Amino acid sequence: MRQMFMMRLFIVYLAVSLLAWGGSVLPQADFGFSVTSALMAQDTEEEAVEEDSEEDVEEDGEAEDAEAEDAEAEDAGEEADGEAAEDEGEEEDAADGEEAESADEETSSEETGDADASAAAIPSAPAVPTTPQTDLKSIFRTMDSFGGFAALWKILAAIIIYLAWVFSTDWMSTDCIRYGFNGKKWIPTAYGAFWGGMILFWAIPFFWVSYLFLVAGWVVPLAMFVRMHNQDLSSGEQVLTPEHLRFVFARLMSYVGVKVDTKVRDRHEVGFPVVLNPHGKNKVDTEQWRIQARAHAGFPNAREIISKLMVVHPEGFMLDYTANGVTSRYLLDGVWNSSEAFTRELADPALQALKILSGMKPEDRKNKQEGAFRIDFEYEYTYPEDRLKVKQAEDALKATLAEENKAKIREMERNVEKAKEAVRAPEKRKRSVLVHFTTQGVQGGERAIFLFEQEKIPFKALADLGMSEEMEQKIRTQMKAEKGFMVFSAPNTSGLRTTMKLTLLKTDRYTREFYEIDDGIHEYDEVENVTKVPIHSKDIDFWRSEMRSLFLKDPNVVIARDIPSPDVMNDMLDEIENEERFMITTVRAKDAAEAILRIMATKCDAEKWVRNLNAVVCQRLVRKLCEHCKEAYLPPVETLRQIGATEKIHIFRTPTPVQPKPGEKPQEPCPECRGLGYAGRTAMFELVIIGDETRKVLLHSPKLELVRAALKKDGNRFMAAEGMRLVREGVTSLQELKRALS
Ligand SMILES: [Zn+2]
Repeated sequence: MRQMFMMRLFIVYLAVSLLAWGGSVLPQADFGFSVTSALMAQDTEEEAVEEDSEEDVEEDGEAEDAEAEDAEAEDAGEEADGEAAEDEGEEEDAADGEEAESADEETSSEETGDADASAAAIPSAPAVPTTPQTDLKSIFRTMDSFGGFAALWKILAAIIIYLAWVFSTDWMSTDCIRYGFNGKKWIPTAYGAFWGGMILFWAIPFFWVSYLFLVAGWVVPLAMFVRMHNQDLSSGEQVLTPEHLRFVFARLMSYVGVKVDTKVRDRHEVGFPVVLNPHGKNKVDTEQWRIQARAHAGFPNAREIISKLMVVHPEGFMLDYTANGVTSRYLLDGVWNSSEAFTRELADPALQALKILSGMKPEDRKNKQEGAFRIDFEYEYTYPEDRLKVKQAEDALKATLAEENKAKIREMERNVEKAKEAVRAPEKRKRSVLVHFTTQGVQGGERAIFLFEQEKIPFKALADLGMSEEMEQKIRTQMKAEKGFMVFSAPNTSGLRTTMKLTLLKTDRYTREFYEIDDGIHEYDEVENVTKVPIHSKDIDFWRSEMRSLFLKDPNVVIARDIPSPDVMNDMLDEIENEERFMITTVRAKDAAEAILRIMATKCDAEKWVRNLNAVVCQRLVRKLCEHCKEAYLPPVETLRQIGATEKIHIFRTPTPVQPKPGEKPQEPCPECRGLGYAGRTAMFELVIIGDETRKVLLHSPKLELVRAALKKDGNRFMAAEGMRLVREGVTSLQELKRALS
């Protein structure tokens, strides 16, 4: 855009220099300017100085002119325009000159400035011989006094309009692209009107009249465009409105360091704490979807529904449309929870607007449609950890009350006070999520599913994921293996990526060479000192040859998380057998036994696979009980034995709902977990090391149950055992463990 601007600036220079040149050649035509040469003789010194500066301008103009012609040949059309206008100007100048000549001389002197007037009053002095140069200048000035255009301020006035036109036309063309307006109609209109005005500007011998035409040529199409723009767009995108001008003013002021609060916000961004933005592949589509969705009557409805569902900070939500109404559910910690119902009047237009925002067909309620959009959600973060400390202090106080130890009670009371004081004030935060949006007609209606793309997980260590020290040690030992295969597995969306990353960070990557295949489809975090090898192809032969060249680099460890074919797998197994390499892959599975069988099912060489498999890690996520409302209880002996407790211990569950006594209000649900009883998740891990028994079973009867039994015989413990530990420690409930393991 800046280049365009500079180019046009050069053309202005061209116009100015041509004009000046035109002025200077005119006297060579025989117009017989006797009066003017006489007037010239009276010129003051001051004017001579002015003339010098005009000459400078002229020279500069010509220099630029040459440059412009060399560099900007591509804009020949525009230049031609400029020149055409210029030629007109010259002709008219000449005509003006003639007219002025033939017109009454006295009238002309009245119209001229003070100097000329005074000069006329003085009796004409004898003609003083002057240089041709000064002669030209004087003619130039005199011409102007008859309504010409040679005066510097007039040229500047025209240039200002010209530059304003350049700026506004630039804006128009980008605006057309941005909002999908008809640029083929608007841009030629802007050009045509302006250059038409320019021609009239040169053609009409009265400066102010001609100037009016020039300004009209700029302003009229611009005003029409702005009107159309503002009609079509929402208030936040309108231009030249009081709000917009205030915003422009604030921005200009910010350049000189003054801050002006504008608070210009789109009406589609206020009212509800969510902003919905499109997420298309290209900008043009995206802008169109945004405009169309915002223009749709259902857009505010969509924002209302989404802002209600976002309050619980879900990982996604679902709307079920039936004849009677619309029910909603939200996904939190991997579990779908039912939420409030909406009316069809509210939710039907909302869905249409969201479909438009995602580039889907709003009228199609039957076929499966997929799209994506973004939600920016503003909320107040209120530090539940601070409130938990208050609760713990209060619990401690309650426990002491029974002891009747006054000193201790007072200390506990002080602790509660301190904890309350330490509760931080709510803080405004913003969450931005990419939503994968699917709609599908179902029996009796339509279902819309909104799943959020996984955000960055804030875990820094495996312990944060809930891995025990013992488990971490075992996995680290396995990661030191010099040869063989290791598998990491988990069901979908169970944090496998995080575990892999944290495991790699804990593994020595400095004395051994680590390589990781990047297939260009799946994205994984970079880990320092693990060299990524791109194989961005689906062609298996290409994969195999790339893998061969990688093996030539003599790597110690190769990570290939998504192996595309059994052939590639077999190559890797051969390499392990022949060259002693350690390889790591991943697979989606509920437990280790399933992971092993899933890879065998790809029809890779089963014998080689079984022979070279070292170990499998599997993980699943389980919800943690809400620390604010979990309830302790003493389970029956049978349950205690089940969970591996050696003595009578309390374990925890979600709070038992209390039936309100007659006349009493029902108990408010826990505000921290909104009555769900759970908040957040932790992982359960299992690490199995493949022994002889497992290898035998895998080769002879590869059935899930038998493999599990064999793994147990080889001395492995399963995930359930980890889960039982979590129940004993009060992290989760028995009920949740059963759900998570099912
Ligand atoms: Zn709770």
